[in-house]
Amino acid sequence: MTALRPPVPRLRSPGLLVAGAVLALLTGALAALPKVERSFIVEEGLRAEATLKLAVEAMRGTLTRAETPPALIAERPILAQLLRDPGNEGLAPFVNEQLRQTALALNVSDVYVMDLNGTTVAASSYRSERSFVDQNFAYRPYFTQALVGGDTRFHALGTTSGERGYFVAAPVIDRTEVVGVVAVKANVEEFEDSWTGGGSDLIVVDRNNVIFLSSRPDLRFRTLVPLSEETVAAIGAIRQYPLSRLVRLDSTTEPLSDDLTLIRFADEGARSEYVTSMRLIATAGWRASILTPTGPARTQARVVMAVLVLAILLAGLVAAVYLQRRARLVERLAAQAATQDLLERRVAERTADLDRAIDRLQSEVEERRATEAALRRTQAELVQAGKLAALGQMSAALSHEFNQPLAAVKSYAENAATFLDRGRADEARQNITLISTMADRMAAISKHLRNFARRPMEAVGPVRLAEVLDDALALMAARLAGTEVEVPDPGPDLWVTGGHVRLQQVLVNLLSNALDAMERQPDKRIRIGIETAGQEVRLSVRDSGTGLDPEVIPQIFDPFFSTKGPGKGLGLGLSISYNIVRDFGGVLGAANHPEGGAVFTLTLKRADAPRLAAE
Ligand code: ADP
Repeated sequence: MTALRPPVPRLRSPGLLVAGAVLALLTGALAALPKVERSFIVEEGLRAEATLKLAVEAMRGTLTRAETPPALIAERPILAQLLRDPGNEGLAPFVNEQLRQTALALNVSDVYVMDLNGTTVAASSYRSERSFVDQNFAYRPYFTQALVGGDTRFHALGTTSGERGYFVAAPVIDRTEVVGVVAVKANVEEFEDSWTGGGSDLIVVDRNNVIFLSSRPDLRFRTLVPLSEETVAAIGAIRQYPLSRLVRLDSTTEPLSDDLTLIRFADEGARSEYVTSMRLIATAGWRASILTPTGPARTQARVVMAVLVLAILLAGLVAAVYLQRRARLVERLAAQAATQDLLERRVAERTADLDRAIDRLQSEVEERRATEAALRRTQAELVQAGKLAALGQMSAALSHEFNQPLAAVKSYAENAATFLDRGRADEARQNITLISTMADRMAAISKHLRNFARRPMEAVGPVRLAEVLDDALALMAARLAGTEVEVPDPGPDLWVTGGHVRLQQVLVNLLSNALDAMERQPDKRIRIGIETAGQEVRLSVRDSGTGLDPEVIPQIFDPFFSTKGPGKGLGLGLSISYNIVRDFGGVLGAANHPEGGAVFTLTLKRADAPRLAAE
């Protein structure tokens, strides 16, 4: 029969649950990828914006540096002097050198002076191959504007130097009359050269959306919007840029945040995407921007996503392994519980068996105790019965013992009367003395009988062996007549542990059995032996009878074992004797003597004489 127990709770298809969760998380992660990419790009853009801010500050500084000097230089009287007298050969070199020194001091690329026709009369670059001297710049707006007092700030690719510059000019006034123009050119290409954007590029766009400066050479002079014909014509007129390079850059933009824009260049393919931010340089009418490729930011975002995906997969794996382990654990626990159940049932069964066995044993012990008590009672009764039986056997002999002295007493009494009649007082006295002796003898016999018949209430203690032996022989004296009895004298100092009456009963029994065994033997001899060895005293009774049948020796001390016919023996004598000796702490043994006949040996404990031995 199997015990019903509630099922261990289990997750329903835990594998499916984990797979579902992993799938949902992966989908979420993939869906979030564009946002993550965007946030990485924004971060990148903001970083670039900070760089841009620094770059723009530097540019503003440079441009400002070029703005004031022209007016100051124009006030030098020597310039008006030269312009008034262009043919003065002593003046021109001096002015040229002065302008060169000024350009160096101002850290600008050129300082030069033009006459009213726009022809350069003196220039800081007078020594170089591309000297401005004699070059005409009448077409430049800064020249024309300077003459009329307008805004002279201008930027262009230098037609003489081939370098992009920022120009500012001022009129040279001599006595309220404009006699020429001073121009200062700052080289702006240094912004490109000194640009270190770390992967991103700087572009500066002018009012016409022409990329005037760029750290990427291929972008220089490209236009972000298509230029109108007028614009192109105007640019051509002032020779600002080489018209052949004004090619449109096909781009699309997409706002990313308040300050950031995504820009893609069509002719660079799908991978050309940049995040840009823009700052104005108002004095020059420029817009400076930084182009930061979005590729690295996207890659970073994807790496982060890949790590996230891996983490999700790993978590899924861990969860799956955990669930599998848990399922196994649950199974194992169930198996353990079943085994434990079985064990508990078996233990309970065994315990019940043991309880029953203990009950049985207890009742058996009770029975044994009751039986033992009954046995002891029976034994005590049997001891008495055995004594009575022995008494019965002895009574025949005793009646002979008493009859013989009685008959003697009768004849001595008659003899005494006759002697008295005849006045023979001495003989009469002799006879009366004999009568008294006979009476003493009978009194002694009667005393022994009384002792024997009494129930043994005596305690075990030291008894004098000689006395017990004497009493037993006296009791058996009648039956022992006609038997040769050898008795050693144990001496008055040999004491053994026992009870006087019971030890005497044992000896009477042994002597009586010996006499029975020798009943039909012509040669009747009993030898009593006494040996002391250490604390033991061995008393043996050997007869010259039939001996013991070896087969019956093991049962000889059993109660009711007898080979004597009915009415002759109860089979209790040896059994009772055996128990008596055991009570004394001794042993009774039986054997055959090698020369024939049986030997019964009583081994008793030697005792010290009692302190009041003289009772
Ligand atoms: P009982 O004398 O009434 O038969 P016992 O217990 O005294 O009972 O003796 C048991 C038996 O042991 C006797 O019947 C006898 O066969 C045997 N037995 C005892 N003493 C002697 C002996 N001295 N010689 C031979 N057999 C003996």
